[in-house]
Amino acid sequence: MINIGFIGLGNMGKGMSINLSKNNYIINGFDLNSEVFNELKKYNINQMKNIKELTENSDYIITMLPDGKAVLKVWEEILMHAKSSQILVDCSTIDVKTSLLVQKNAQKLNIETLDAPVSGGVVGADEGTLTFMIGGDEKTLNNVKDLFDIMGKKSIHCGAYGAGQSAKICNNMLLASTMIAVGESFELGKNLGLDLNKLFEVLSTSSGSCWAINTYCPIKGIGPKSPSDNNYNGGFSTALMHKDLSLAIDAINQTNSKNNYGLSTFNKFDELVKAGKGHLDFSNVINE
Ligand code: NAD
Repeated sequence: MINIGFIGLGNMGKGMSINLSKNNYIINGFDLNSEVFNELKKYNINQMKNIKELTENSDYIITMLPDGKAVLKVWEEILMHAKSSQILVDCSTIDVKTSLLVQKNAQKLNIETLDAPVSGGVVGADEGTLTFMIGGDEKTLNNVKDLFDIMGKKSIHCGAYGAGQSAKICNNMLLASTMIAVGESFELGKNLGLDLNKLFEVLSTSSGSCWAINTYCPIKGIGPKSPSDNNYNGGFSTALMHKDLSLAIDAINQTNSKNNYGLSTFNKFDELVKAGKGHLDFSNVINE
């Protein structure tokens, strides 16, 4: 049996680790918040005392952490105990610079690595339908492809180390921009006196359709169930989207890219965080 170490069992890591456990992998979990194990124990996920114990008992290690700072810290600790037969995969969304740094540190010890951030949200994590954007060596990817196939429906090899993170930054900038545009469309529809269920029917089947409408509609009671129906609780936090947009802004500046929508999207999320809405789902973009 293959042992998987899984670090970061929050909104996303929970579903991903449960799916691996259901497919006969032994899962050794670690999270700073030990309460996550209240639910995970019934899925046979073993609670490790610390990262040392997890590393010593795992063949492959997956991290699903909030940001680059957490990944830097956790990977430093993993590398103190890791051995060259192990493969480390970071599925968190982090800046390319940190991703390259932690992977380089591992490779100095002959440990194979991948950056493999995901798209598909909490529903995708729970249902095993995520898309993985992968940076690194194709041979390493083939060694752990079975894990991606369980946790997701698609894994795309984007290029060399860091390419997965670059693709993820582009995707999330687009997602945040479309979410704001969808909110504004519904607001206009409401002001024009339209029945919003009818507007959903039109938009979700017309040329304006997109994931932010069809799967994750930001309007309460409209479209399939999503965090808007739960007062924007659960899902992908506004604070994490703000982090991803900050990464996009850094990348825009570093590459001298022209990007007006990206900048105004960042400003909108900056306002939301400053208004104390960072803990709510990122679809909380509706003007009230
Ligand atoms: P989360 O905050 O729900 O979970 C993160 C977990 O990491 C928490 O349980 C936290 O206790 C744990 N953690 C933090 N620092 C740690 C440390 N040093 N050691 C051990 N555990 C630590 O976040 P999430 O929504 O699961 O997102 C995780 C990553 O996935 C982020 O990088 C996010 O940008 C990305 N992501 C999230 C979504 C989504 O819809 N939530 C979608 C795609 C990508």
